[in-house]
Amino acid sequence: MDTDWQDDEKLRKLTFPRLFITDFTLEDNLAPIENRDEFTYGAPQADIGLLERLPFDLMNNILSPFDLVTLTAFRQVNRRAKELVDGLFQFNAIISYAPNALRGLIAVGLGKSFTCAPLYKALCSSFKCSFCDEFGGYIYLITCERVCFLCFTKRIVLQPMEPDQARGLFRLPRSLVDTLPYMTAVGGRYGKNAELINAGTGLIDARLVMDLAISHWGSLEAVYAILSETDRRIPRYFLRTKVPPSPGRVRQFLLWESTEVKGRSPNRFAAVVKAPWYDSESGRVYRGFHCSACLDSPNPNYCRIQFTPETFEKHLKVFGEVRYGRHEPPDGVEEPTGEIE
Ligand SMILES: [Zn+2]
Ligand SMILES: [Zn+2]
Repeated sequence: MDTDWQDDEKLRKLTFPRLFITDFTLEDNLAPIENRDEFTYGAPQADIGLLERLPFDLMNNILSPFDLVTLTAFRQVNRRAKELVDGLFQFNAIISYAPNALRGLIAVGLGKSFTCAPLYKALCSSFKCSFCDEFGGYIYLITCERVCFLCFTKRIVLQPMEPDQARGLFRLPRSLVDTLPYMTAVGGRYGKNAELINAGTGLIDARLVMDLAISHWGSLEAVYAILSETDRRIPRYFLRTKVPPSPGRVRQFLLWESTEVKGRSPNRFAAVVKAPWYDSESGRVYRGFHCSACLDSPNPNYCRIQFTPETFEKHLKVFGEVRYGRHEPPDGVEEPTGEIE
């Protein structure tokens, strides 16, 4: 069942279910698929040979640890194999509610790195973004984490780095950087400005790059020293702010300032696909909804935030109740900036 939290009349008036803005993500660059409804699969005509003798439970146990590439290849053997793979509850939920996450993982070369389990977990363990309490309407494929729009466009750790960038910035040898797992971007247009990413561009999780740099140079302080030499903005920033550079602050600043103009890197969009939350207990699917008053906000990101009834109540408390289609900020409270550190 596909539903939104739209049973409530107040919510129906103040919110809307879909945003008519295209932020080009991986799913907008995947090859189009034929309409499944046009296909009707008859009963299997052939079996799967000796494997047919195995009891169903054992067959499940054999198929579950298969990586996504192997599993989908086996599924294509014949209709009986398809029937067996589709019978796996995790695969079934993924193909029913987040097929683009599966297609995306395979398209960016990560299909061999994941089984169904981590993707299923991202699909149904919680509606919350892995980095904040908002509804997370996307899956960051490099690590199979559920994320929200504001986090994946702003958080430093969710900006995938290209190998050359990692090597140049942290002065790491190619042989070391090449040991890190990476995704291979699908060529196309990405992000709010539809910027081009060439097919085959390698993208590595920023957290892995930073950890590699720290282990290679011995400490975060050593990494800071290296970066201070290569990028003069870094020491200048800390002199200007007069804030002692704590390890966490340095780590954030280095990745932030050195790799992109804030939040605009198309690399961020190449690693995510939209995904609803599948509540496996009730069998219902939730996509979150948007605040209609925030459509006119000067901050173009506010209207992209997805809500549940609970998080929307909190939103109204912070931004103010909606009157005549606009938020009326509570007395003495300034509109939050929505900036993420
Ligand atoms: Zn978030
Ligand atoms: Zn709002």
